Amino acid sequence: MIENFSERLAIWQNQYGRHELPWQRQGAYATWVSEIMLQQTQVQVVIPYFQKFMKAFPTISDLANASLDSVLAHWAGLGYYSRARNLHKAAKTIVSDHHCEIPKDLGLLIQLPGIGRSTAGAILSLGFGLRGVIQDGNVRRVLSRLFCIHGDLSKATAQKILWELADQLTPNSGPAARIHTQAMMDLGSLVCRRSKPSCRRCPFADDCQANQRGEVSLFPRPKRVKQRPDETWVVLQLENERDETLFLQRPLEGIWGGLYAPHIGSSLSKIGEQLKTVDVLEAEYQGELTHAFSHLKVHLEHYKLKVHSQDIAGIGVWQPIGRFQKGVPAPINTLLNG
Ligand code: SF4
Repeated sequence: MIENFSERLAIWQNQYGRHELPWQRQGAYATWVSEIMLQQTQVQVVIPYFQKFMKAFPTISDLANASLDSVLAHWAGLGYYSRARNLHKAAKTIVSDHHCEIPKDLGLLIQLPGIGRSTAGAILSLGFGLRGVIQDGNVRRVLSRLFCIHGDLSKATAQKILWELADQLTPNSGPAARIHTQAMMDLGSLVCRRSKPSCRRCPFADDCQANQRGEVSLFPRPKRVKQRPDETWVVLQLENERDETLFLQRPLEGIWGGLYAPHIGSSLSKIGEQLKTVDVLEAEYQGELTHAFSHLKVHLEHYKLKVHSQDIAGIGVWQPIGRFQKGVPAPINTLLNG
């Protein structure tokens, strides 16, 4: 084990770490929201969303009592919407089962939707100042280099080693663990970056096994990049006599679950099978864009069709684009405003 690791890390964090992030020292609720937003999303992207979200839902009860539509509207653009749905669901559980208090217990925290062991560790340490152990992407990368951990880090064998190391390195006292957690995140994102780590600025340059062997670029082993399949989706914007657009809520499960968008299908004629009262083939092409999901690349083709609202009975919400307040996926927003 590396001598005085947490003490040296804390000294480094005090001098070089991040101390001004808007969720720091704001309590467990702010920590939780930020941790969920930061999954798969960079800090600079998250900051404005976090601020807007906390203004709209300043407490857990505000979040629990809000409609899912409103929560998704504040999430629109961040992607990975199951995170928002789980956050909302977990807030309801905290209100109903835990008297509006986020549990201070690892076992109870990981029972809440969307909270895994690392997020729970972050809530305990950063949110409550208790001992909590984390193992997010930053920590995994740092540990894999410091200790030359080979293989696929997502596999059970590597996971076990990583959790043991993370646990051994985390100080026992709550206040020290809080600093340690932030410091590990900072070291990973500011110095031991995925590409071009700044080993010369690293407080552990002499202890790091990968650095000492000149093998930093070998750790962690790069994930095998799967070829993403391509699909074409047609977005048919129906516009009525008052220049309002028809928005439909998407099924809760699946891509953009719970958000609102015009009709989407694999072709105009497929959409036409649902819309028998209008001739979709008269729709006019407006433009297109490509959007990459983690598992899929989609070419979105945008068409617009002028209709009479009485021809499209009983479904969705008619609204002018600029006035629609519910959550719309960011690429759809770009198309509609393009
Ligand atoms: S020496 Fe380099 S590779 Fe090792 S922990 Fe520090 S920044 Fe990361």
